Amino acid sequence: MPMKLIRNVTIYAPEFLGKRDILVTGGVVGAIGEDLTGASEFPGVGVLDGEGLVAVPGLIDAHVHILGGGGEGGFETRTPEIEVGELVSAGITTVVGCLGTDGITRYAAGLVAKAKALKQAGLEAFVYTGSYQLPVRTATGTIGGDMTLIEEVLGIGEIALADHRSSQPTAGELAKAASETHVAGLLSGKAGIVNIHIGDGKSGLGLLRQVLETSDLPIGMFYPTHLNRSERVFEEAVRHGLAGGWVDLTTSTTESLLQMGEVSAPEALRRLLERGVPLDRITFTSDGQGSLPVFTEEGRLAAMTVGSVASLLEAVKSAVSREGIPLEQVLKTVTSNPAAVLGLERKGRLSEGADADVVLLDEETLSVEAVIAQGSLLLDRQGRFRDELAP
Ligand code: ZN
Repeated sequence: MPMKLIRNVTIYAPEFLGKRDILVTGGVVGAIGEDLTGASEFPGVGVLDGEGLVAVPGLIDAHVHILGGGGEGGFETRTPEIEVGELVSAGITTVVGCLGTDGITRYAAGLVAKAKALKQAGLEAFVYTGSYQLPVRTATGTIGGDMTLIEEVLGIGEIALADHRSSQPTAGELAKAASETHVAGLLSGKAGIVNIHIGDGKSGLGLLRQVLETSDLPIGMFYPTHLNRSERVFEEAVRHGLAGGWVDLTTSTTESLLQMGEVSAPEALRRLLERGVPLDRITFTSDGQGSLPVFTEEGRLAAMTVGSVASLLEAVKSAVSREGIPLEQVLKTVTSNPAAVLGLERKGRLSEGADADVVLLDEETLSVEAVIAQGSLLLDRQGRFRDELAP
């Protein structure tokens, strides 16, 4: 893998570092400094002029239906699996896949295989084993088996609560699955996450609160998502965030969902910060390839579109341009914060020794110009690299 030197690029690590050079070597960030031009003398070093570009850590999207999802309107509404190019062109270098409503015709083993395919294409990929349902249908037979024997499995999910599509679990059932995940996380040295889909139903975050109040499980292992789906759920998200829990906001949306009361992720971020929820508790995920169904009051499907991973970076841009939040703050929701949730110590930061997941954005438009994942160049739309740097 050839060394790469990115010169004079404005770095957000995600903290603002100003103009620096970045040396990428052996798949990691070898050095960040004011002038590393000496490194260009090494044989085979590719040099990129970073003028007009911003370097940010590769985005982490911790909730994507990589194998497709949906199907709530019958077989023809099953959503397709993701292609690697869609993730790369969205600046995403680390993805966590999940199943959803359909845990009947889609399987954990297929999800793991899809993650492995994305890894072979140069990305980092993980999964939550299971689907909406409890008990969890795993690949090996037990949650502990999946967690300890399959390297891609970081936890279980997305377990649906407060939704007519959930398995209507009790607090005891949720706590039992969570405890298995927690112990297996300890044994396998992984985060051991319970990714929770919060629906539009009556109970909101109520069942999760009950588990937290009546068990000894740590709040940080629960990762509830879609917390911007309505004003009511948003209010519960504020309380959960102030209590030290993770607050995950979904960036894929539609005009009709927004009209029906969904709070856009950028607006929700601004309002959470105004309410005193610490920035380091808040993440964005795209819900990419998931179905975005609109149901009637009787629970029938009224309309459906498909979530997009491109919404992740779009939400970052909008949080900066429309909500007035500084880029270095917004970036944390898609880099260092999800890395903390997932327990990925070498991800989500541009610092010496971190994995060389570097996304170069146009400094005016913040659109993706080039993507390096684990030191390999995956995307270069502008042809600006001086040397041939294909992996
Ligand atoms: Zn969901």
